[in-house]
Amino acid sequence: MSGKLYIVGAGPGVADLLTLRAATVLRAAQVVLHDDLVSQEILDLCPASAQIINVGKRCGSRGRSQEQINALMVWHAHETQSQTIVRLKSGDPAVFGRLGEELDALRRAGVEFEIIPGVTAASAAAASAKITLTDRRAASALVVVTAHNCRNASLSETVEPARSTYALYMPGPDYSRTVQGLLESGHEPKTPCAVVSNAGRANEEVRYLTLQELQSAKGIAAPAVLIVGEVAAEHLPRRDGDLLSRVSSDARDPYQHDRFPIHPALG
Ligand code: SAH
Repeated sequence: MSGKLYIVGAGPGVADLLTLRAATVLRAAQVVLHDDLVSQEILDLCPASAQIINVGKRCGSRGRSQEQINALMVWHAHETQSQTIVRLKSGDPAVFGRLGEELDALRRAGVEFEIIPGVTAASAAAASAKITLTDRRAASALVVVTAHNCRNASLSETVEPARSTYALYMPGPDYSRTVQGLLESGHEPKTPCAVVSNAGRANEEVRYLTLQELQSAKGIAAPAVLIVGEVAAEHLPRRDGDLLSRVSSDARDPYQHDRFPIHPALG
């Protein structure tokens, strides 16, 4: 039977800023594939018998390629007896965590997965600095941007709307007005979006549509967040099949080309 892969946000580093769900999954983990920024204190929550594999880049050691990491996830889920496999990333896994490529690989390989969000560095930093990110008297947008990107683009290019994700809090109840505003700010009517009501709750509802479709959508429950941008086109095939074939052949035995350090969490 194939295992389930949990993509877990480790938060900013200390164990008591993990979510309870993250801690529960880590305590049940048989395999943990983690990035460098994840602290030992958090890894220590895993059972002593768990395989703990650092797939991050470390000083003086060759980093694992994204394809190798994808292959490891798929291999552990499909080809071993492990039932609970954790991909542990710092902060929130969906913020600058290369999660997109990993989700593509998991979907293509048919691996069952769940994402457990974490406290992202911006939230942790604001708390440490005792400031509010969106003081309504001073700011109505929070821009989360990377100074490093895979295209080597300048900061001004990085924040261009077509390559940005907008997360609109309080988007309703008049969605047609919200969409109108987005169109006026330069978005195309066919821009994909995801509207998520009651995120993370038992009654959550996710709809994937275009801005044009959202304009006339009915019955979207509050509270909701509207995510606008190309990232919301996840359900559509996005890339060529090369990655898939590389992943599937490596996934048969991703250890054949490289030795990954595997050691128990404790002792
Ligand atoms: N997914 C992570 C971000 C990964 S990118 C998140 O949601 O936080 C790695 C960058 O995150 C670091 O270079 C640093 O800029 C930031 N970061 C991660 N942990 C941090 C911490 N505890 N304090 C400050 N910045 C942190």
